[in-house]
Amino acid sequence: MSDRLADSAEREAAAQRAAELRRLIHEHNHRYFVLGAPTISDAEYDQLFDELDAIEKRYPELITPDSPTQRVGSDLDERLPKVTHPAPMLSLAKAYTPEELRAWQARLERLLDTRAAFAYTVEPKFDGVSVALTYTDGILTLGATRGDGYIGDDVTPAVRTIRNLPQRLPARPDAPAVPHRLVVRGEVVIHKDDFKAFQARMQAEQPEGAAKFVNARNTASGALKQLDPRVAASRPLTCYAFGIVDASEELGERLPRNQYAVLEYLGALGFLTSHIARRFESLDEVIAYVQDFEAHRHDLPFEIDGMVIKVDDAALYNALGIVGKNPRGAIAYKFPPEEVVTRLINVTFNVGRTGMIVPSAELAPVFVSGATIRQATLNNFDDIARKDVRIGDYVRLKRAGEVIPFVIGAIPERRDGTEQIIAPPERCPFCGAPVVRAEGEIAYYCSNPDCPERRARQLEYFVGRGQMDIEGLAERGVRQLIEAGLVRDEADLFALKAEQLEPLEGYGAQKIKNLLASLEAAKSRPLDRVIAALGIPGVGLTVARLLLKHFPSLEALQSATLEQLDAIHGIGEALARTVVAWFAEPRNRALLEKLRANGVQMAPLESATPRSDALSGLTFVLTGSLPTLTRDEAAALIEAHGGKVASSVSKKTSYVVAGEAAGSKLEKAQALGIPVLDEAGLQALIAERSALRQD
Ligand code: AMP
Ligand code: ZN
Repeated sequence: MSDRLADSAEREAAAQRAAELRRLIHEHNHRYFVLGAPTISDAEYDQLFDELDAIEKRYPELITPDSPTQRVGSDLDERLPKVTHPAPMLSLAKAYTPEELRAWQARLERLLDTRAAFAYTVEPKFDGVSVALTYTDGILTLGATRGDGYIGDDVTPAVRTIRNLPQRLPARPDAPAVPHRLVVRGEVVIHKDDFKAFQARMQAEQPEGAAKFVNARNTASGALKQLDPRVAASRPLTCYAFGIVDASEELGERLPRNQYAVLEYLGALGFLTSHIARRFESLDEVIAYVQDFEAHRHDLPFEIDGMVIKVDDAALYNALGIVGKNPRGAIAYKFPPEEVVTRLINVTFNVGRTGMIVPSAELAPVFVSGATIRQATLNNFDDIARKDVRIGDYVRLKRAGEVIPFVIGAIPERRDGTEQIIAPPERCPFCGAPVVRAEGEIAYYCSNPDCPERRARQLEYFVGRGQMDIEGLAERGVRQLIEAGLVRDEADLFALKAEQLEPLEGYGAQKIKNLLASLEAAKSRPLDRVIAALGIPGVGLTVARLLLKHFPSLEALQSATLEQLDAIHGIGEALARTVVAWFAEPRNRALLEKLRANGVQMAPLESATPRSDALSGLTFVLTGSLPTLTRDEAAALIEAHGGKVASSVSKKTSYVVAGEAAGSKLEKAQALGIPVLDEAGLQALIAERSALRQD
């Protein structure tokens, strides 16, 4: 075949693929923008888009006017009146890496024929619904969606219900002058906290319909398009302003044009603008800033899918013009998607320390939030049934922050009929014992108390932080000892000898010395820790302490009756039964004796914690993990000093104590202006107030 022929065959194939991609992208645009029910992830969509873009770059003659690369995805809704935008509401070019940002800058320098540095404004890329808001003589007269970029839907009644949006300008007394006509561009979002509260409210008010509110952006978009503004009013919408689309000219030079100045101006008029927008003189600073946010996106009160970088100088920005549907002077630095779609290949079953069977999804590997994911939890069988997830399904996954990814739901549209229902196993995959479902419980259990997997999990728990806290045995450490036949139960740990450890892989002299030292130290753990480590279902540190408050020694606790335990405030009947049954079990009694024989002291609990009323009248909320105290220990410390611990942040909260990976409680505290302490700060507060009281 001649080269010419080969070329034309290739071009033919490219043309076909381009047509196919266009069809697919149009379909997914419709699902995303109009139906609000996407069936592929943003990343998959971007892939289709980028592929089409690459073909069209190679064969520019294949570009059609209606190609999605040339147009903004349209979300027009035929039920609503239409508005023509005074200036097109454009889309943004995307960058995924710092290199792509540098390439963008190089392109700008070439176009502007300069190497002189220019400044950039960096803003969050709000993941919401774009709107144009027209103010006529200071009064909000029109709100429109982006639509196809040229024509939008008139959503004025819905926009008027947004509480934080000024209905009249200026909305502040000392504000600068406002032009007769001002069209502001903004983004309507739902704050994460508000969305959670809204979901909870929907769940309570109309449980059948609540399932459709899975995504804040879609919920906001749906709210704006409601014909009845009361529906919009009942959804917690927030609008951030980030640009001026158009303005009458009478203010001349007094109307700011540079992007950062525009943000300041909008803020001064009374619009909500992002507090994280910054102006930088160099791209290096821009890159450092956006990368920092990639790690901290979860600390923001709203969802973002990236950051937008704009050439700050309006004259340069305008000179750069538009290519396709994107202004050249701006670019979106996109973060990796948090929600992805992949295939559920199989389901495996793990067994927890209580014997509970935990289903886990094996996935076709997928890259999300900076990591390749192959597994996700499926919670329990009721959850699987409710979401109707099947083996072979395409599923939507979410990974938020540090949390293990979980399966949000299946995409039934992508089924081909070969999918299989997920059923609980009849036998334990580790020991073969029958699997049983306890009455009134959701979970299934391995019925064998000697199940090796179950024992291993319990031992891992026993040595863990917050329980016996045996350094050097974290993770696989215990399993190695079990596999070597050195440890069969908790008590065996305390009889380990150096000679037994020497032959083990990875055990050098120093490691052996350290392990024996930490085992020695663990022998004198206070009784509450030991009780909590035993793995009695429902008995963690807090419950252990409560029990010991009434029965301060092991002997006393062992001989407590059901009635006595049930009478303790805070211990329900079911828990009392579990505790009595656990201590009545001969194997458990034998274990306790063996622990004692091997040197674990289990001395009655002195009230070792110092007590005071230094914190009386104060309410604390704990969030995140603290460097040395467990959550329960921190709560106990606060209570020992007369403070109260509450589970959620409100105006009544005096302090939030936050550690590593603190979540929405911290955001809420910041929003309400409640002081935040770290662990050291808490200790200092106690010391300070104790001293005050002694004076
Ligand atoms: P895209 O639709 O992904 O091409 O991105 C363009 C959209 O990003 C605009 O329509 C806006 O709705 C949205 N956007 C969110 N935040 C900003 C921002 N700070 N500056 C410009 N556009 C933004
Ligand atoms: Zn088993």
